[in-house]
Amino acid sequence: MLKVDGIDVFYGNIHALKGVSIEVLEGEIVTLIGANGAGKSTLLKTLSGLLKPKNGSIQYENKSIAGKAAQTIVKTGISHVPEGRRVFANMTVEENLELGAYVRKDKQIQKDIQKVYETFPRLHERRKQLSGTLSGGEQQMLAMGRAIMAKPKLLLLDEPSMGLAPIMVKTIFEIIEDINKNGTTILLVEQNAHMALSVAKRGYVIETGRVVLTGSAKDLQASEEIKSAYLGG
Ligand code: ATP
Repeated sequence: MLKVDGIDVFYGNIHALKGVSIEVLEGEIVTLIGANGAGKSTLLKTLSGLLKPKNGSIQYENKSIAGKAAQTIVKTGISHVPEGRRVFANMTVEENLELGAYVRKDKQIQKDIQKVYETFPRLHERRKQLSGTLSGGEQQMLAMGRAIMAKPKLLLLDEPSMGLAPIMVKTIFEIIEDINKNGTTILLVEQNAHMALSVAKRGYVIETGRVVLTGSAKDLQASEEIKSAYLGG
């Protein structure tokens, strides 16, 4: 579904991604693991068109999307939930969800909003509330709900568990698995490597802009290197 081959990404003269190659097959959950500043968010931003690679190729459903505008990429079925729950603060919960569907032309939008409310009952309770006044965890739910409204084929999730209470972390990961079971392929960036590997099929470890290790989630969980560096020993 997605094939990234040897991409280089720069911020000015900072070389953030150095020849990164990854692959995501249809139906998978694939996770990117790495320390702070490794380049995980940079990779997601490049896939969704917020950054342009200097070299290398990005093939999505056998078409090149490298360097295409974000508005073009979102229409091909790739939806990005960036780090830090970016919601439109001055719009209500419901307006944010409606906006998530702006790329769609079908008539199922209201039905899908109801489905998001079933997944996140808290958002239903708060549907008329201005999003900027939601709690951090509620904003995270809204950011995911808005991405689901785009009916993506490929969902890019950046640190969905960040800042959430432990019980909510569990819920968010259950929801990620549900979204996947309903047919959406997922590329997941997570600090919580333990949870990420428990839902993912495969993973890539990124260190200072390079992929240094890849394997099945099971093998990565068992790796001594991963255990000591990312799973707390
Ligand atoms: P974290 O887990 O801390 O979010 P990350 O793996 O997502 O880290 P990135 O945000 O992709 O890391 O950053 C990769 C590198 O690029 C870091 O060294 C970072 O300082 C640098 N970087 C990111 N954004 C910019 C920017 N706008 N301008 C300059 N450098 C940047």
